Amino acid sequence: MAARQEKKPSEGRNPKSTQNDTQTSQAQWGRAWEVDWFSLASILFLLMFAPLIVYYFIMSCDQYQCSLTDPLVDLLTGNKHLSDIWNKTPTLTYRAAGIYTLWVTFQVVLYVFIPDFCHKFIPGYVGGVQEGAVTPAGVVNKYEINGLQAWIITHVLWFANAYYFHWFSPTIIFDNWIPLLWCANILGYAVSTFAMIKSYLFPTNAKDCKFTGNFFYDYMMGIEFNPRIGKWFDFKLFFNGRPGIVAWTLINLSYAAKQQELYGQVTNSMILVNVLQGIYVLDFFWNESWYLKTIDICHDHFGWYLGWGDCVWLPYLYTLQGLYLVYHPVQLGTANAVGILLWGLIGYYIFRTTNHQKDLFRRTNGNCKIWGKKPEYIECSYMSADGTKHYSKLLTSGFWGWARHFNYTGDLMGSLAYCLTCGFDHILPYFYIVYMTILLTHRCIRDEHRCFSKYGKDWKRYTAAVPYRLVPGIF
Ligand code: NDP
Repeated sequence: MAARQEKKPSEGRNPKSTQNDTQTSQAQWGRAWEVDWFSLASILFLLMFAPLIVYYFIMSCDQYQCSLTDPLVDLLTGNKHLSDIWNKTPTLTYRAAGIYTLWVTFQVVLYVFIPDFCHKFIPGYVGGVQEGAVTPAGVVNKYEINGLQAWIITHVLWFANAYYFHWFSPTIIFDNWIPLLWCANILGYAVSTFAMIKSYLFPTNAKDCKFTGNFFYDYMMGIEFNPRIGKWFDFKLFFNGRPGIVAWTLINLSYAAKQQELYGQVTNSMILVNVLQGIYVLDFFWNESWYLKTIDICHDHFGWYLGWGDCVWLPYLYTLQGLYLVYHPVQLGTANAVGILLWGLIGYYIFRTTNHQKDLFRRTNGNCKIWGKKPEYIECSYMSADGTKHYSKLLTSGFWGWARHFNYTGDLMGSLAYCLTCGFDHILPYFYIVYMTILLTHRCIRDEHRCFSKYGKDWKRYTAAVPYRLVPGIF
């Protein structure tokens, strides 16, 4: 969803932009300073249609048993009018507003007021106060990494309620799904609008702001790099991880509970979705400190793209498989179930190992072993705008010798596994793999544009050594 980057940043405003020895083009750090027509058109399209897409998918399940074509057929044949569909849509309720307010407040409390204790007793887990990457203005932010703890506390309470206290039904999320959608939208728009106003009136770090002068672009892609309230409430870390990703596994559990209520059993496909997506979510929180060094945190500014996306797009569209399985309880044959599980686990293994190899290689400056051997790499250099020459290394062995973004390939394999659990009767559950393919392919191109601007001829040597992006021999 991010916009294409411009080649020519405004002079003097981008202190960390980089330049390779032989390159004349200066690199972009973060998103563009100037907006081309293609980026603007994409942004206007997304601002107008992304909320409608979410509504359409959720409404199709609610009113049309997850068929994406039946609503269109009804509308085109005049069988129904838009107003008929809209009038059947559940509205915002006090109950949903109460649940949502309590949920977000609870996550804020866990994030801000309970310092991490997991790193004190879980071996190998990196939590507590950690440093992020250097920002364009040269700031190194500190973060309280306590997402794993928030996830554990939330889920312990969820299970305690489901099996012991019975304060509320475990189907509560499914039962209020559309009223909760309105609440998520209110928060998504409120936080994006607040972030925009804040960047003009009281930015956390004025030097890390990017103003393009185009209202829509700035609203969508964000102005502030790391908006914060107080010392610790970091918008990007909070909204990226919680409430959306902590909720992801709870939403799936609620779908499983609904299947149990409706059909007296939970299907193996629903268990697979819960297990495979649960592994992905737990991996995210286990590696939350590593996440500080990924593109989302290191390069993207905080606007509607992240604010609304984290509140609405992620919890509603990343969980479509579980929602579908409530309406169509698929019981897979053993061979299919085992095959999908293995495919998903292999995808996860590739995703995690590839990310780990780069992380280890960069942390140790190459003094490590990749698949039992000394790593192979390409030495590269770049210059920051102040004229200082820097050195870096690009790994060319392990999974990084197979393709330049094999971590994305593993991610895509896992994404396909979630979809396959739903069988082939409807296309709705396959939205996720289509979306992830577009997102990660676009990311490859965006990242490589940035790396080429940064490393110049060294990047060309790297792409010659590792010629494929995602699938060796194909792309
Ligand atoms: P990467 O972790 O692949 O980071 C890319 C950066 O790594 C490059 O900009 C470059 O930075 C450096 N790099 C590139 N090639 C090499 C190399 N050969 N050796 C060493 N360093 C290299 O990308 P992301 O941050 O996008 O993704 C992180 C993970 O998050 C991925 O596994 C992805 O699948 C996942 N993800 C999931 C999403 C979801 O919605 N589920 C969304 C987005 C990502 P430098 O300037 O330091 O050289």
